[in-house]
Amino acid sequence: MKTRDLYKVLGVQKGATREEIRRAYRKLAREYHPDANPSDGAAEERFKEVQHAYEILSDPERRREYDEGPRAFFGGTGGPTGATSADFSDLSDVFGSFGDIFGNASRNRPRSTRGENVTVSVNLKFKDALEGVTTRIAAPVEEACEPCRGTGAAPGTAPRSCPECLGRGVRSRDQGFFALSEPCGRCGGEGTVVEKPCSGCGGRGRVKRNRQVTVKIPAGAKDGMKIRVPGRGSVGSKGGPAGDLYVVTRVAEHPVFERKGDDFLIEVPVSFVEAALGAEVEVPRPGGGRVKLKLPAGMQDGKRFRVRGAGAPRAGSRGGGAGDLIARARVVVPKKLTRREKEILEALAEERDEDVREDLLRRSREAETA
Ligand SMILES: [Zn+2]
Ligand SMILES: [Zn+2]
Repeated sequence: MKTRDLYKVLGVQKGATREEIRRAYRKLAREYHPDANPSDGAAEERFKEVQHAYEILSDPERRREYDEGPRAFFGGTGGPTGATSADFSDLSDVFGSFGDIFGNASRNRPRSTRGENVTVSVNLKFKDALEGVTTRIAAPVEEACEPCRGTGAAPGTAPRSCPECLGRGVRSRDQGFFALSEPCGRCGGEGTVVEKPCSGCGGRGRVKRNRQVTVKIPAGAKDGMKIRVPGRGSVGSKGGPAGDLYVVTRVAEHPVFERKGDDFLIEVPVSFVEAALGAEVEVPRPGGGRVKLKLPAGMQDGKRFRVRGAGAPRAGSRGGGAGDLIARARVVVPKKLTRREKEILEALAEERDEDVREDLLRRSREAETA
């Protein structure tokens, strides 16, 4: 079948309104409908042709694609999905249930498909994740093939309407009173066939490429965080919308800070003298610089200090703010003493004359006699 001008098929001007197209279609459909022309092959062909033309010209999106030519078949990001159906219900008052049958058939047709979502991970330095960073990553996505502009047809040629189903993507089989629809085997339901496949993509219309994508990592990004970049996944086929890109963060570990939610944990060595006498000490801060901690005299091992707001910025939360820095004191006992240090500590022991296990032994005794 030669690809005919769809406006000529319906006998309307190129700038015809929707109403004019609808009226022309109704008139021709009535004239060539198989019910009105039993066993007239030519009328049936004409009927299918009229139907195909109406299906495209009655849908504003598809009409625009048709008017613009094959260029409209590639590279779409976003845009409405193509799985629209012409409004055949117009005919139901004339032909009863026929309208519904054709309506469903065109709806089943996978004319265009959305591109796949693509997931890629990004390695981040501790500092970049904490402060936020704009980075470029290579995402392996399907892109529209350039030589064929996404059509799959060799340059200089174009996909043509499938001769088997006349571009409808479905075939109707007459079974007595019923007309059953099934996907067209020739075009796989797409409605178009490629005679000479493009050598660049083997007729697929898409090629795998590493696309450079700029991604904004929010301050305070956690390890394993999933960032969605809409419309930057694989392009759709036949004008379908693009999929999304998901970027998963991999944050490098820090030698001293351990992340717990939006808080950072740090273990702080404290000498047994500082623990006993009390002290003011400095500890590193996750964002750089230091914070002061005031250790009270007589501080015990494992005591926790919370520095509010010195943790990670709350990435993605509207309330903003930041987590805390939690410092845990670890009392360090000297492994080696000089002779003089030993003398001092022995003098201290004599001075204190204490039995630190006295309470332990008393409670144990009480339990036995109770
Ligand atoms: Zn077909
Ligand atoms: Zn190609």
